[in-house]
Amino acid sequence: MNKIVVLSGAGISAESGIPTFRGSGGLWEGHDIREVASPEGWRSNPQLVLDFYNKRRKNAREVKPNPGHLALVELEQHFDVQIITQNIDNLHEQAGSQNILHLHGELFKSQSTADPNLVYEIDGWELNWGDTCERGSQLRPHIVWFGEMVPMIEPAMEMSSQADVFIVVGTSLEVYPAAGLIEYVPPLAEIYIVDPGTPRLSPSRNIEFISEKASVGLPLLVEKLTKNNS
Ligand code: NAD
Repeated sequence: MNKIVVLSGAGISAESGIPTFRGSGGLWEGHDIREVASPEGWRSNPQLVLDFYNKRRKNAREVKPNPGHLALVELEQHFDVQIITQNIDNLHEQAGSQNILHLHGELFKSQSTADPNLVYEIDGWELNWGDTCERGSQLRPHIVWFGEMVPMIEPAMEMSSQADVFIVVGTSLEVYPAAGLIEYVPPLAEIYIVDPGTPRLSPSRNIEFISEKASVGLPLLVEKLTKNNS
Protein backbone atom coordinates (compact mmCIF):
# COMPACT_ATOMS: atom_id res chain seq x y z
CA MET A 1 0.00 0.00 0.00
CA ASN A 2 1.32 3.44 -0.89
CA LYS A 3 2.54 5.59 1.94
CA ILE A 4 0.97 9.05 2.09
CA VAL A 5 2.45 11.65 4.40
CA VAL A 6 0.45 14.81 5.13
CA LEU A 7 2.03 17.97 6.52
CA SER A 8 -0.76 20.15 7.90
CA GLY A 9 -0.72 23.69 9.25
CA ALA A 10 -3.05 26.28 10.73
CA GLY A 11 -4.96 26.69 7.42
CA ILE A 12 -6.64 23.29 7.68
CA SER A 13 -8.31 24.39 10.93
CA ALA A 14 -9.28 27.87 9.69
CA GLU A 15 -12.68 26.74 8.40
CA SER A 16 -13.38 25.12 11.77
CA GLY A 17 -13.06 28.58 13.33
CA ILE A 18 -9.46 28.63 14.56
CA PRO A 19 -7.73 31.62 12.97
CA THR A 20 -4.40 31.14 11.18
CA PHE A 21 -1.35 32.95 12.33
CA ARG A 22 0.06 34.66 9.20
CA GLY A 23 -3.42 35.72 8.10
CA SER A 24 -3.58 38.16 10.99
CA GLY A 25 -0.51 40.21 10.07
CA GLY A 26 2.02 38.26 12.10
CA LEU A 27 -0.04 38.56 15.25
CA TRP A 28 -1.57 35.56 16.95
CA GLU A 29 -5.02 36.57 18.21
CA GLY A 30 -3.80 40.14 18.66
CA HIS A 31 -0.55 39.23 20.41
CA ASP A 32 3.03 39.52 19.24
CA ILE A 33 4.11 35.88 19.12
CA ARG A 34 7.20 36.61 21.22
CA GLU A 35 4.94 37.63 24.12
CA VAL A 36 2.94 34.42 24.15
CA ALA A 37 4.95 31.77 22.31
CA SER A 38 8.57 32.06 23.38
CA PRO A 39 10.63 31.15 26.46
CA GLU A 40 11.34 34.89 26.95
CA GLY A 41 7.61 35.65 26.98
CA TRP A 42 7.08 32.93 29.59
CA ARG A 43 9.88 34.30 31.77
CA SER A 44 8.68 37.90 31.60
CA ASN A 45 4.92 37.32 31.99
CA PRO A 46 3.84 33.71 32.62
CA GLN A 47 0.31 34.77 33.58
CA LEU A 48 -0.21 36.35 30.14
CA VAL A 49 1.02 33.13 28.51
CA LEU A 50 -1.24 30.94 30.67
CA ASP A 51 -4.23 33.21 29.96
CA PHE A 52 -3.49 33.17 26.22
CA TYR A 53 -3.43 29.36 25.97
CA ASN A 54 -6.40 29.03 28.36
CA LYS A 55 -8.42 31.15 25.92
CA ARG A 56 -7.20 29.09 22.93
CA ARG A 57 -8.11 25.89 24.82
CA LYS A 58 -11.55 27.16 25.80
CA ASN A 59 -12.30 28.09 22.16
CA ALA A 60 -10.83 24.85 20.81
CA ARG A 61 -13.27 22.82 22.92
CA GLU A 62 -16.11 24.25 20.87
CA VAL A 63 -14.80 23.65 17.35
CA LYS A 64 -15.41 20.66 15.11
CA PRO A 65 -13.40 19.09 12.28
CA ASN A 66 -14.28 20.31 8.77
CA PRO A 67 -14.49 18.37 5.48
CA GLY A 68 -10.72 18.82 5.03
CA HIS A 69 -9.93 16.86 8.21
CA LEU A 70 -12.60 14.30 7.30
CA ALA A 71 -11.18 13.76 3.79
CA LEU A 72 -7.88 12.70 5.38
CA VAL A 73 -9.75 10.09 7.43
CA GLU A 74 -11.32 8.78 4.21
CA LEU A 75 -7.82 8.55 2.70
CA GLU A 76 -6.92 6.00 5.41
CA GLN A 77 -9.46 3.59 3.93
CA HIS A 78 -7.21 3.29 0.88
CA PHE A 79 -3.65 4.13 1.90
CA ASP A 80 -1.16 4.00 4.73
CA VAL A 81 -1.50 7.61 5.96
CA GLN A 82 0.75 9.48 8.37
CA ILE A 83 -0.17 13.01 9.43
CA ILE A 84 2.51 15.41 10.62
CA THR A 85 0.74 18.47 11.99
CA GLN A 86 2.10 21.82 13.09
CA ASN A 87 -1.25 22.46 14.73
CA ILE A 88 -1.70 22.34 18.45
CA ASP A 89 -5.46 21.75 18.23
CA ASN A 90 -6.87 18.21 18.26
CA LEU A 91 -9.08 18.38 15.17
CA HIS A 92 -7.27 15.54 13.36
CA GLU A 93 -7.90 13.35 16.43
CA GLN A 94 -11.53 14.47 16.67
CA ALA A 95 -12.02 13.66 12.97
CA GLY A 96 -10.70 10.13 13.55
CA SER A 97 -7.27 10.07 11.90
CA GLN A 98 -5.11 7.31 13.38
CA ASN A 99 -1.47 8.28 12.90
CA ILE A 100 -0.82 11.85 14.01
CA LEU A 101 2.48 13.38 14.99
CA HIS A 102 2.27 16.80 16.64
CA LEU A 103 5.39 18.69 15.71
CA HIS A 104 4.69 21.78 17.83
CA GLY A 105 3.00 20.21 20.83
CA GLU A 106 -0.59 19.90 21.97
CA LEU A 107 -2.93 22.49 23.42
CA PHE A 108 -4.66 20.01 25.73
CA LYS A 109 -1.44 18.90 27.42
CA SER A 110 0.90 20.51 29.95
CA GLN A 111 4.54 19.84 30.70
CA SER A 112 6.77 20.34 33.70
CA THR A 113 9.08 23.35 33.68
CA ALA A 114 11.64 21.14 35.44
CA ASP A 115 11.51 18.21 33.00
CA PRO A 116 9.86 18.49 29.55
CA ASN A 117 9.40 14.71 29.52
CA LEU A 118 6.80 15.00 32.27
CA VAL A 119 3.69 15.60 30.15
CA TYR A 120 0.08 15.57 31.39
CA GLU A 121 -3.42 15.77 29.91
CA ILE A 122 -5.20 18.98 30.90
CA ASP A 123 -8.54 18.26 32.47
CA GLY A 124 -10.93 20.98 31.23
CA TRP A 125 -9.46 24.15 29.73
CA GLU A 126 -7.53 25.91 32.49
CA LEU A 127 -3.86 25.68 33.37
CA ASN A 128 -3.07 28.00 36.28
CA TRP A 129 -0.14 29.47 38.10
CA GLY A 130 0.42 27.08 41.03
CA ASP A 131 -0.46 23.93 39.04
CA THR A 132 2.54 21.69 39.50
CA CYS A 133 4.04 18.45 38.22
CA GLU A 134 4.69 15.39 40.42
CA ARG A 135 8.04 16.94 41.35
CA GLY A 136 6.43 20.17 42.53
CA SER A 137 7.49 22.39 39.61
CA GLN A 138 5.17 24.77 37.78
CA LEU A 139 3.42 23.35 34.71
CA ARG A 140 3.52 25.21 31.39
CA PRO A 141 1.69 24.57 28.10
CA HIS A 142 3.03 21.55 26.18
CA ILE A 143 3.84 23.71 23.17
CA VAL A 144 7.08 24.06 21.24
CA TRP A 145 7.68 27.79 21.40
CA PHE A 146 9.66 29.88 18.93
CA GLY A 147 13.35 29.49 19.70
CA GLU A 148 12.93 26.02 21.25
CA MET A 149 14.14 22.68 19.90
CA VAL A 150 11.54 20.62 18.01
CA PRO A 151 11.92 17.17 19.58
CA MET A 152 9.68 15.39 17.05
CA ILE A 153 11.51 16.68 13.96
CA GLU A 154 13.70 13.54 13.64
CA PRO A 155 10.78 11.09 13.37
CA ALA A 156 9.03 13.59 11.05
CA MET A 157 12.09 13.62 8.73
CA GLU A 158 12.13 9.82 8.72
CA MET A 159 8.40 9.69 7.86
CA SER A 160 8.83 12.27 5.08
CA SER A 161 11.68 10.27 3.59
CA GLN A 162 9.34 7.27 3.20
CA ALA A 163 6.53 9.08 1.39
CA ASP A 164 5.23 7.95 -1.99
CA VAL A 165 2.85 10.90 -1.89
CA PHE A 166 3.40 14.04 0.20
CA ILE A 167 0.49 16.41 0.81
CA VAL A 168 1.05 19.88 2.25
CA VAL A 169 -2.09 21.64 3.45
CA GLY A 170 -2.70 24.99 5.10
CA THR A 171 0.84 25.93 5.93
CA SER A 172 2.71 29.02 4.79
CA LEU A 173 5.97 26.99 4.89
CA GLU A 174 7.52 29.91 6.75
CA VAL A 175 8.21 28.15 10.04
CA TYR A 176 11.36 26.00 10.20
CA PRO A 177 12.29 23.22 10.68
CA ALA A 178 8.78 22.04 9.63
CA ALA A 179 9.02 23.84 6.28
CA GLY A 180 12.21 21.91 5.49
CA LEU A 181 10.49 18.49 5.64
CA ILE A 182 9.61 18.72 1.95
CA GLU A 183 13.36 18.40 1.22
CA TYR A 184 13.34 14.88 2.74
CA VAL A 185 10.63 13.62 0.40
CA PRO A 186 12.09 11.12 -2.14
CA PRO A 187 12.68 12.60 -5.64
CA LEU A 188 10.12 10.31 -7.31
CA ALA A 189 7.32 10.98 -4.82
CA GLU A 190 4.31 13.06 -5.85
CA ILE A 191 3.93 16.33 -3.95
CA TYR A 192 0.64 18.24 -3.67
CA ILE A 193 0.01 21.58 -1.99
CA VAL A 194 -3.55 22.49 -1.02
CA ASP A 195 -3.74 26.16 -0.08
CA PRO A 196 -5.76 29.15 -1.35
CA GLY A 197 -2.80 31.44 -0.63
CA THR A 198 0.80 31.43 -1.78
CA PRO A 199 3.00 29.32 0.48
CA ARG A 200 6.73 29.55 0.00
CA LEU A 201 7.40 26.83 -2.59
CA SER A 202 10.56 24.86 -3.08
CA PRO A 203 11.73 25.67 -6.63
CA SER A 204 13.72 22.45 -6.76
CA ARG A 205 10.63 20.24 -6.63
CA ASN A 206 7.90 19.31 -9.04
CA ILE A 207 4.77 20.23 -7.12
CA GLU A 208 1.10 20.08 -8.06
CA PHE A 209 -0.65 23.10 -6.60
CA ILE A 210 -4.35 22.92 -5.68
CA SER A 211 -5.40 26.50 -5.05
CA GLU A 212 -8.44 25.77 -2.89
CA LYS A 213 -9.44 25.88 0.74
CA ALA A 214 -8.83 22.63 2.60
CA SER A 215 -12.56 21.79 2.78
CA VAL A 216 -12.75 21.80 -1.03
CA GLY A 217 -9.21 20.91 -2.13
CA LEU A 218 -8.64 17.90 0.12
CA PRO A 219 -11.85 16.04 -0.86
CA LEU A 220 -10.94 16.66 -4.54
CA LEU A 221 -7.41 15.39 -4.02
CA VAL A 222 -8.55 12.34 -2.05
CA GLU A 223 -10.99 11.46 -4.85
CA LYS A 224 -8.20 11.75 -7.43
CA LEU A 225 -5.74 9.64 -5.43
CA THR A 226 -8.25 6.90 -4.68
CA LYS A 227 -9.41 6.78 -8.32
CA ASN A 228 -5.80 6.46 -9.54
CA ASN A 229 -5.32 3.65 -7.02
CA SER A 230 -8.31 1.52 -8.03
P1 NAD B 1 0.38 30.04 8.92
O1 NAD B 1 -0.65 30.84 9.64
O2 NAD B 1 1.75 30.58 8.81
O3 NAD B 1 -0.13 29.82 7.42
C1 NAD B 1 -1.45 29.43 7.16
C2 NAD B 1 -1.54 28.94 5.73
O4 NAD B 1 -2.86 28.41 5.57
C3 NAD B 1 -1.37 30.05 4.67
O5 NAD B 1 -0.52 29.55 3.63
C4 NAD B 1 -2.79 30.29 4.17
O6 NAD B 1 -2.83 30.67 2.81
C5 NAD B 1 -3.40 28.91 4.37
N1 NAD B 1 -4.86 28.88 4.52
C6 NAD B 1 -5.69 29.83 5.02
N2 NAD B 1 -6.96 29.39 5.00
C7 NAD B 1 -6.92 28.13 4.50
C8 NAD B 1 -7.92 27.14 4.23
N3 NAD B 1 -9.21 27.36 4.50
N4 NAD B 1 -7.52 25.95 3.72
C9 NAD B 1 -6.21 25.70 3.44
N5 NAD B 1 -5.24 26.60 3.65
C10 NAD B 1 -5.58 27.80 4.18
O7 NAD B 1 0.35 28.62 9.55
P2 NAD B 1 1.50 27.56 9.76
O8 NAD B 1 2.30 27.44 8.51
O9 NAD B 1 0.82 26.36 10.31
O10 NAD B 1 2.48 28.18 10.88
C11 NAD B 1 1.97 28.87 12.00
C12 NAD B 1 2.43 28.34 13.36
O11 NAD B 1 1.43 28.78 14.30
C13 NAD B 1 2.45 26.83 13.46
O12 NAD B 1 3.62 26.51 14.13
C14 NAD B 1 1.27 26.44 14.35
O13 NAD B 1 1.69 25.60 15.40
C15 NAD B 1 0.80 27.72 15.00
N6 NAD B 1 -0.69 27.86 14.92
C16 NAD B 1 -1.49 26.77 15.14
C17 NAD B 1 -2.88 26.89 15.03
C18 NAD B 1 -3.73 25.66 15.28
O14 NAD B 1 -3.32 24.78 16.03
N7 NAD B 1 -4.90 25.53 14.64
C19 NAD B 1 -3.45 28.11 14.71
C20 NAD B 1 -2.60 29.23 14.50
C21 NAD B 1 -1.22 29.08 14.61
